[in-house]
Amino acid sequence: MEREHRSHLRSKPAVVTVPALYRVAVCGGTHGNELAGVYLLRQSMKRKRKGSMADPVTMVTVMTNPRAVQQCVRYMEVDLNRCFTHTTLSAPVSDVTPYEVVRAQELNALLGPKGGSAAVDLLCDLHSSTANVGLCLIAHSDSDWICLHICKHLQARLATIPVRYVHYDVPKSEAYTLHSVGKHGFAMEVGPQPHGVIRANVFTAMQEAVHLTLEWVRLFNSGTQFEGGSVDVYTMVENIKYPQDPLTHTITAAVHPELQDRDFCLLHPGDPVFLSFSGETLRYKGKEALYPFFVNECAFYETGVALSLARRRKVEIPDIQCSRM
Ligand SMILES: [Zn+2]
Repeated sequence: MEREHRSHLRSKPAVVTVPALYRVAVCGGTHGNELAGVYLLRQSMKRKRKGSMADPVTMVTVMTNPRAVQQCVRYMEVDLNRCFTHTTLSAPVSDVTPYEVVRAQELNALLGPKGGSAAVDLLCDLHSSTANVGLCLIAHSDSDWICLHICKHLQARLATIPVRYVHYDVPKSEAYTLHSVGKHGFAMEVGPQPHGVIRANVFTAMQEAVHLTLEWVRLFNSGTQFEGGSVDVYTMVENIKYPQDPLTHTITAAVHPELQDRDFCLLHPGDPVFLSFSGETLRYKGKEALYPFFVNECAFYETGVALSLARRRKVEIPDIQCSRM
């Protein structure tokens, strides 16, 4: 009996150990008109100059697209947050290379190299959205226990805003985002907030979330064991584009009032999606009920995307602890 009992204990899933996160990068201004991240970064740089020593975590703060920030535009020549594929990062630079490609290579040298052992341990890139997304951690993995545990921590501690985990199922090598440069990384997307505008509630939510993220990292590095559980993961399935005039390619409808601001509310087949400018309701033709997000995001008009759709499922995450201990 005794032996049986012990083997039962041994079969309990082991605590997963993960290396400490010594270098953490908090980045903002990747899109120069998303002001919550821009001002949060300026604020934390100011505080850093005043000096807070003896921190076990080295935090790097980077204003990633300073020219776009200065002009208060999303980007100067190309979208910086689409420049971090291995192909773009290794492309030869000439006089005609877009500013953001040059900048991506500089950032990869500073925070990476992507996929290399010298890359920062955790990269948090701050964004804001005109859509009613609340606070999302957007990551390329649904099994990155660090990112999922941070999400769980934020969900438990942030009372003012819903926190969700959004997963873009792309291999890291093909991922084009800045946060793919870190060993672990996510974009922190907060909304709704118009581009070029700062809203106090959005700024405060982001500030608290960054603070809680760093608090989690410090606890993790000092040996705290975090209990697992389940986290809802929204995996991006497809984009829905605006209907267009076939000749002029201008859009012919707006997001339907019944869908506007209803990010992460289940969209069923037959539900209204668009209201055409001639007054006609266009409905969701998909066969599967999915979760809309980035509904009527301003930055996606240039690609004709009206919203994205995600499938939700529960991911069981294990207990984790820092392997250094
Ligand atoms: Zn952005």
